[in-house]
Amino acid sequence: MQLRKVLATALGVERVVVTSATVEGDALVFLVRPVKKERRRSSQCGIRCPGDDSASGVRRWRALDIGRTPVLIEAMAPRVKCKTHGVVVEQAPWARPASTR
Ligand SMILES: [Zn+2]
Repeated sequence: MQLRKVLATALGVERVVVTSATVEGDALVFLVRPVKKERRRSSQCGIRCPGDDSASGVRRWRALDIGRTPVLIEAMAPRVKCKTHGVVVEQAPWARPASTR
């Protein structure tokens, strides 16, 4: 099993690629991205949508701690243009809408 798969499993996230891990203060920060088929989906309905370049940024989510070490998941949060919901942030497979740290 690849190390990235082990890390994703340990973090309790699915359908992601773990691209790097760093120590920041007392926390572990894992940089992830959704697997290709999970990208460009509306965070409100999950439908695939065209991208929208008006705004994007890096966001962080709190994951389950490893022992007593806090764990953060960091990823780009591009926007998509959903036919039903308008411009919304792309769905993050590991998070519910509006659940950033
Ligand atoms: Zn939608």
